[in-house]
Amino acid sequence: MNVCFAKVLGKAERENVTDVAVQENMLDSLVKFATELDGLPMNVLIAKEVVTKLLNLKKLIQRRAKMITITTGEITLSPTQINMFMRCQYQWYLRYVEGLKIPPKPDMVVGSSFHKAMERNFQNKMETQEDLPVDEVLDVYSETFEERLEEVEDKPEDKILGELKDSGYKITKEYRENKAPEIQPLEVETYIEAHIGEGVKLHGYADIITTDLKVIDLKTVKRKPQNNQIDYGYQLQLETYAIHNDLKGAEIHYAIQTKNPQILVLSHPLPATNQRIKTIAKQVAEAIRSGNFLPNGLGHSWACNYCGYKEKGLCPYS
Ligand code: SF4
Repeated sequence: MNVCFAKVLGKAERENVTDVAVQENMLDSLVKFATELDGLPMNVLIAKEVVTKLLNLKKLIQRRAKMITITTGEITLSPTQINMFMRCQYQWYLRYVEGLKIPPKPDMVVGSSFHKAMERNFQNKMETQEDLPVDEVLDVYSETFEERLEEVEDKPEDKILGELKDSGYKITKEYRENKAPEIQPLEVETYIEAHIGEGVKLHGYADIITTDLKVIDLKTVKRKPQNNQIDYGYQLQLETYAIHNDLKGAEIHYAIQTKNPQILVLSHPLPATNQRIKTIAKQVAEAIRSGNFLPNGLGHSWACNYCGYKEKGLCPYS
């Protein structure tokens, strides 16, 4: 088979090889071509090697394209991204440059199902001023739990899974019966964004903004926060929401999955200016633009132990 790869390419592609998008198209054509070669007995080994090399090259180009976008365009950061970056820059790189997603853990399924149930309740309440019946809220929790469980790769045994689902069920019931009636939502799952200068945009979704202009974020946790203080990462989250809104207060509602479920409300005094979150976000953006991602999770006592990339063998440092 005496075919030159270049002939597979169009003229425009051959002339614009410096353009990243063109390079990607070009590689797609070459991979297709080489895959076809794979079917021919004389060329099997060579074709397989060519396909592997081309696919590796494609990944390199995609990574480069992502870095070009990051370093030349506006950087959009959420509080989750900022917290991840501060925990471990290399973890952020794997997630947002390499695009590697780690499937959720069963605990996260409890959290997102609780959120979904409350979102449905408060969306209804915005219209009717009434909470949904408890059974209806619990049905949303159970249905969402079963749906999201599909995404979990390593499921625990049925008994443990049952206990986990039950703990989320109890906390959802507790919140709906004893906390939700006090809350009158103005907005639910509000998208917030703010261009803060130096090519940085902050964005995020606020769980609930109340009619008295308080932002509430819901968290499911296994135990009470230390010293009854809002974790630093959650403080930044609340301060991000406060950038865009004329908010009068900010609270984290901890739904604590202890044997007897508890709800703990902690307030965060919003700073008079938004300087802290803006400064941190700009510094994170500057570090990202340097293109040098340190594995600083290694410097924490716990970060690597809870890192999905370590578990999957995707971090070369751990
Ligand atoms: S294993 Fe540790 S060093 Fe590696 S990405 Fe995760 S947190 Fe960072």
